[in-house]
Amino acid sequence: EKPYKATVVGSGNWGSTIAKVVAENCIERPQEFDQTVCMWVFEERIKGEKLTEIINTRHENVKYLPGILLPANVVAVPDIVEACKDADIIIFNIPHQFLGNILRQLKGKVNPNARAISCLKGLNVSREGCDVLADVISRELGINCGALSGANLAPEVAQCKWSETTVAYHTPADFRGKGKDIDKKVLKHLFHRPYFHVHVIDDVSGISLAGALKNVVAMAAGFVDGLGWGNNAKSAVMRLGLREMIHFAKLYFPECEERTFTEESAGVADLITTCFGGRNVRVGKYMAEHHVPAEDAEKVLLNGQSCQGIFTTKEVYEFLSQRDTIDEFPLFHVTYDIIYNGFPMEKLPERIERGDEKY
Ligand code: NAD
Ligand code: 13P
Repeated sequence: EKPYKATVVGSGNWGSTIAKVVAENCIERPQEFDQTVCMWVFEERIKGEKLTEIINTRHENVKYLPGILLPANVVAVPDIVEACKDADIIIFNIPHQFLGNILRQLKGKVNPNARAISCLKGLNVSREGCDVLADVISRELGINCGALSGANLAPEVAQCKWSETTVAYHTPADFRGKGKDIDKKVLKHLFHRPYFHVHVIDDVSGISLAGALKNVVAMAAGFVDGLGWGNNAKSAVMRLGLREMIHFAKLYFPECEERTFTEESAGVADLITTCFGGRNVRVGKYMAEHHVPAEDAEKVLLNGQSCQGIFTTKEVYEFLSQRDTIDEFPLFHVTYDIIYNGFPMEKLPERIERGDEKY
């Protein structure tokens, strides 16, 4: 049978890292995977040179993953339709605010038998409700989409430092029979490395929600860091954050499994790593130390990379407010008020104090 052709859509810090992981596996399994991994790159010029040309000649993404050699079979492609047109497995890996635009360009242009994996950490909130991004991709492109999410700070994975991740995939009944499906073994072969241990499960919504919501908690953990309040305070924020993540899932995505949050890399482990070493926590910390808005902190710290928690905090707040349940999420609520309404972060503990402790 013809080998699967994988394409990565996105070439940021995590997009480039996942392209590296996948390309290493494709080289090792020529029977199973096509040897070329296309990586769609949002074209920009670095000191006059096109980023795609830099990647294809020097094999380094000098802006978003500097210092890491990409395998030569990662081929940077600036045209999104071109990058995806022959792909059997499309791996989405971009900051989630750009997803809608990408899907509009791809609609009707991908192989109808292709399958997708979303590595994005974010949600899609609209007047109609809240979707996990794998479902948005499935719906817009008409192809089944799973997800990959875990405790995976990209620079560590890129340096082949050991970590775990969770891949979730299941085929809904109405997708069966529409061409060859990818099975879980193929996904494991595509993503698993000696330094990147993959656990494949079914709970696409669970890992997607955990990956999105932990970014809100990380912003709050950053405030605590910046205020110099110490590890006990940060753990308190993380405890409540995990509770609110699970509560959100139970209320609005009853198909999720609680154990995804408590036992998977995509759950509690990602919450921990992000709150200690991620970009969201750094942005929150910088806001507290320098008294600047979130977007300013993001610009100063991240050199074009994206702090997803800024958007997700707002999206989650809007979704919960529309449903009159924001009071059940005091940490998500106060994090929104700090970022968007100038609420003093020193007063965070008052807002999250438990009712039974007010006596
Ligand atoms: P990033 O934060 O490095 O973002 C920069 C990327 O956005 C670049 O590729 C840039 O070209 C692209 N971009 C800028 N403007 C654009 C536009 N108008 N349209 C399309 N693309 C544009 O991205 P990342 O770190 O690869 O993150 C991708 C996803 O992976 C996010 O959802 C993130 O939460 C998630 N994630 C990141 C990490 C990490 O450690 N970086 C780890 C796990 C998951
Ligand atoms: P940040 O976006 O906060 O860096 O988190 C990365 C991540 O998702 C780690 O798993």
